[in-house]
Amino acid sequence: MPFEIMSNQIIFLGSGGSVIGSIEVVCGPMFSGKTEELIRRVRRAQIARQKIQIFKPSIDNRYHESDVVSHNSLSIEAIPVKTAIEILYRVFDSTRVVAIDEVQFFDSMILKVVAKLAKRGIRVICAGLDQDYKGMPFGPMAELLAIADSVDKVQAVCTLCGAQATKTCRISKELTDQVIVGEADIYEARCRSHFDYYDEEEDFFQHAFPFLERWQQDKISRMNQNP
Ligand code: ADP
Ligand code: MG
Repeated sequence: MPFEIMSNQIIFLGSGGSVIGSIEVVCGPMFSGKTEELIRRVRRAQIARQKIQIFKPSIDNRYHESDVVSHNSLSIEAIPVKTAIEILYRVFDSTRVVAIDEVQFFDSMILKVVAKLAKRGIRVICAGLDQDYKGMPFGPMAELLAIADSVDKVQAVCTLCGAQATKTCRISKELTDQVIVGEADIYEARCRSHFDYYDEEEDFFQHAFPFLERWQQDKISRMNQNP
């Protein structure tokens, strides 16, 4: 692949000589090492002397108002923003890498923002929860995974059995909002067999019942036609 060295940075170029940007997503449940991995990629870009900017949604102030902090206390300075569009305004022309943590908390405008940055030739690294506490796609994540150039799903350790955990369980069943920022006091990483979302069965039968009923009626009428 052709490349050019611009102010100490190696920029990869497409066949037409244009700079190629990219969208990378690191996703998984809580405690799976998403922030750790984001920080690792940021540090490598810093070693390569690439200009990098890190963003996080201001709603996530669990450990620090501005820094991105992992559960094992790695940290890196970041810019807290209220909305996705604010990221576009804050990225400098000279920035080569943009990292965004807790990307699931942004509105759907984040999809346009990351696509626009990548089109400008920027490497965009996003980390976020792929699923909410009900095991459903979290905010813009399903679409973000679809438009990404690379996706890494990382796993935590199930707090009940030690298996690979792909789900985040909300321990308190009274709290029902999708977004409740919390820590190990509210959430636990769980494997599929220990993720007992309490409404799951009710939900299934609510959806399946009309189909089962129709299938039963069809069967009876067929039997009446061909006794
Ligand atoms: P995430 O951003 O995905 O929530 P972090 O990168 O902040 O995860 O933290 C990952 C770290 O959390 C691990 O390296 C480990 O030290 C710690 N940890 C705490 N509970 C668990 C767990 N159940 N499974 C795996 N790691 C855990
Ligand atoms: Mg994190």
